[in-house]
Amino acid sequence: MTKKKNTILVIEDELPIRKVLSISLESADYKVVECDNGREGARLAASIKPELILLDLGLPDIDGKEVIASVREWSQVPIIVCSVRNTDEEIIHALSAGADDYVVKPFNPDVLLARIHTNLRKAATQEAGDPELTNGNIRMDLVRHEVFLGGAKATFTPKEYELLRYFLIHRGKMLTHKQILKDVWGNAHTDDMQYLRVYVRQLREKIEPIPTQPRFIITEPGIGYRMEFA
Ligand code: CA
Repeated sequence: MTKKKNTILVIEDELPIRKVLSISLESADYKVVECDNGREGARLAASIKPELILLDLGLPDIDGKEVIASVREWSQVPIIVCSVRNTDEEIIHALSAGADDYVVKPFNPDVLLARIHTNLRKAATQEAGDPELTNGNIRMDLVRHEVFLGGAKATFTPKEYELLRYFLIHRGKMLTHKQILKDVWGNAHTDDMQYLRVYVRQLREKIEPIPTQPRFIITEPGIGYRMEFA
């Protein structure tokens, strides 16, 4: 039985980069659809319904962020931005507009493939609608509100539980400080970075084998955090 290939829509105006991406994605067994401008990209996203979108920001017609906004009106398909723009502001804008991840050019193809794989896994687990969230030895029972670490029940304060649940739901995704604060603490707390730092430290103490060298909750300098798949 042949498995259906995942389709990746590549929206990128530079032909050499598009070619490099196509070769690397096809050799990793993905089906690739290419497009060189934003408007056509947004239309293609709706017509071919890809499993994932790789998106440049500097496009000849509209900015990539407009493509994100347009796709997010109707779809939660994973979007990975691949751009030369490397300022924290640009990255945070793209993530706030609804991108799932951000890779700065020039990119390492292996890193990009790993990010694609992670984002596809995340999308697949979200669809399953499981009453349990797991990552490595962490298991969260959403019905009983209990957390198990390596099979042993662990105690979390309500806020720690909420933050851990948020990270587990969005595992693999690059999350900005503001997004996390808004979604976990509410609109009034989007600037309370200190809350977040304190709670991330507490969570790391509980879930990380070596809290000072985290492998679950990774710091994205200047941007926020990302929960890696174990
Ligand atoms: Ca470009």
